Amino acid sequence: MILIPTYNTVVLPGSKIYFRKEYLQEAGVEKISVGEKVTFLYLKEPKDKDITMEDIYPIAVAGQVLSIDDEGGANLEAFNRINIEYMDFENQNVVGVQRPEIDDLDPQSANTMLIGLRDELLNYVTKFQWGLMARGYVLAWKNMNEVMVGLSPFMNITPEEKYAVLSEDSTKARAELIAQYAREFMAINEVSEEAKQAQKELHEKAYREDAIKKQINFLQKALDEMHPENISEVRKFEEKIENSGMNETARKEADNVLNRMKQEGKDSHEYGLLYNYLDFVTSLQWKKEEPKDIELDNAMEVLDREHYGLKKVKKRIIEQLAVMSLNKKQSGSILLFVGAPGTGKTSIGKSIAEALGREYVRISLGGVRDEADIRGHRRTYIGAMPGRIMDGMKKAATSNPVMVLDEIDKLAISYNGDPASALLEVLDPEQNNTFTDHYMNVPYDLSDVLFVCTANSLDTIPGPLLDRMEVIRFTGYTALEKFSIAKDHLIPKAKKKAGISEENLIIEDDTIKALINGYTMEAGVRGLKKQISSLCRYAAVELVKNNKEILDVKPEDLQEYLDQRPIRHEGILEKKHAGVVTGLAWTAVGGEILFIETMLTKGKGNIKITGQLGDVMKESVDIALSLVKSIYPEKSEVFEKNDIHIHVPAGAVPKDGPSAGITMTTAIASLVNNIPVSPEYAMTGEVSLRGRVMPIGGLPEKLMAAARAGIKKVFIPEENKDDLKEVAEEVLNELEIIPVKKVEDVLGIVLI
Ligand code: ADP
Repeated sequence: MILIPTYNTVVLPGSKIYFRKEYLQEAGVEKISVGEKVTFLYLKEPKDKDITMEDIYPIAVAGQVLSIDDEGGANLEAFNRINIEYMDFENQNVVGVQRPEIDDLDPQSANTMLIGLRDELLNYVTKFQWGLMARGYVLAWKNMNEVMVGLSPFMNITPEEKYAVLSEDSTKARAELIAQYAREFMAINEVSEEAKQAQKELHEKAYREDAIKKQINFLQKALDEMHPENISEVRKFEEKIENSGMNETARKEADNVLNRMKQEGKDSHEYGLLYNYLDFVTSLQWKKEEPKDIELDNAMEVLDREHYGLKKVKKRIIEQLAVMSLNKKQSGSILLFVGAPGTGKTSIGKSIAEALGREYVRISLGGVRDEADIRGHRRTYIGAMPGRIMDGMKKAATSNPVMVLDEIDKLAISYNGDPASALLEVLDPEQNNTFTDHYMNVPYDLSDVLFVCTANSLDTIPGPLLDRMEVIRFTGYTALEKFSIAKDHLIPKAKKKAGISEENLIIEDDTIKALINGYTMEAGVRGLKKQISSLCRYAAVELVKNNKEILDVKPEDLQEYLDQRPIRHEGILEKKHAGVVTGLAWTAVGGEILFIETMLTKGKGNIKITGQLGDVMKESVDIALSLVKSIYPEKSEVFEKNDIHIHVPAGAVPKDGPSAGITMTTAIASLVNNIPVSPEYAMTGEVSLRGRVMPIGGLPEKLMAAARAGIKKVFIPEENKDDLKEVAEEVLNELEIIPVKKVEDVLGIVLI
């Protein structure tokens, strides 16, 4: 007698079963021979040693060895069930009685059931790759019990459920239970197989995709190495986007555009647009620059090295840098440099960048009238472009350049929106960390940019914009300052640019002075710089073509070398004339003197005005006439019996603004009293109908012009006295300044 314990496989009466040699050995069966009796014990838990009655279910099956094959495996046959009463596993001994079957299934029905179930099983197994092999097994099952024995190792049911089949006495009920379990098995496996299959397919697809991508990358790299000049644009952008450090929104947008670029392909007309966009956004610097320590001494040195004078301006700049340093910020208040052209506004902006060790970009706002110029065009427009601000950021290629916004007073408002309001957003520290250019369509952080604006005058700058900025005035240079600037900065630079060495070209001091006084008329040094460059070019030709070693430029050579006649400045009048008075004007190019000429002709009290005066100046004429009539009532006959002709010569000076009021009044008073005014005097000031002299702008520039023209005494409005602080000492030394409150104060002095 051999005891064969089984765990997962139930052996049922009337079935045949094969055990491999290894299985038998594990079950403790050492030796086995054909015809030997066996008992199949059904284990509750897996176990192969010291098996006791507790380990097994009480019903077992008796059987016999049918045959043994070459590998040592055995074919066995099960006969009937037994109720075990005693079992000694060690001695392979079992005592029990046969358990009767209730045979209530007629052979016909049994067969029908079997065939039905087998068909279902055959149908089921064909769905699988292993189905062909399984078909043989299924066809070999000769009764329902064999079906159970064959399937039980694969069934996902508990040992108790399997034992329920074994312990069922009714053959019919048992067959039905087997059919039920078999169908459940098929259903469960079908679902899970389907799920498995679907998952497998998914995995396979992902895996395939991955593998293909890797292969493409590999091949592309190999290709790139062979032809580095053709590295695909898409790949280039992929890498650039990856390394750009873009914020999340920008990254998404760039990825979207890149995907479209891939889909469109090179021949599409959109390709170029998509390319331009990616090229633009990947050229920007998205990573934030670390703030550097600001060394004030060094900054001052840089400012001094590049620019002569400008003491106040430099002091204010250093203050700004100190505040930034204390706040550990890369930007601060927005500075607005105001002054005539060529006074060094832009170039000191550049020096600030140099002093801070940061990039410099200059954006010209002159003539900008479209909001899109600042904020960009939406990409739906043909020819859409980023705005000037972001374009500047691209050029700077860092997150914290010093950005000079040039000519902010030349912004124009037009039907295409208000560029000034767009600029407000750029300059507003509350908003500019998410500045969104329409073309880019994603926010960019401008908060580390140090903005510096320049303007010639404050008049045309919109109020809200002006409120944002701190005004620093550049008053223009005196002749002496210009001389130093030319000698120390402009001439050395121009020589270097023209490739002329220091000793080859000598521009004498008198020549420089002649250049300043005779060939330029400006508050700044732009014209002077141009003239010096022309001189250097002339010298270059002389040195190269005519083999000269040294060119020494004397004042009298200038006319020939520059091929230009000296500019005629309005000089002091040589003779006194009643009715002619010198005024002072302020224009964008600096100060100038001007004359107001009046003349009486026989007539009926008509007034004739010539010299293309503006509306404000014409009003000044009316006020002056009324004032003079009221101050000199005894002269009413002069007005009645004559016509008065008023003329303001000198075409270059724009003739508008109220500051000629006092000059006009004095001229008419001089005329009607027939008392000439000494040409030593000049004056500036607005007048009211009550005869008050009111303050004017541009005093430093006007006084500079007066000194240059050789004027000795200047009347200024009392309220402008404070502005004298801005005036260079050398100018004040040459002039006697007479502050006045009323028109009579002037008339009392000059009409004697
Ligand atoms: P702005 O912007 O005021 O019109 P720029 O900055 O363009 O004037 O100056 C014109 C030229 O004059 C530049 O080459 C500049 O270097 C030079 N310049 C102006 N002021 C000075 C100065 N104080 N010292 C040296 N060079 C100067």
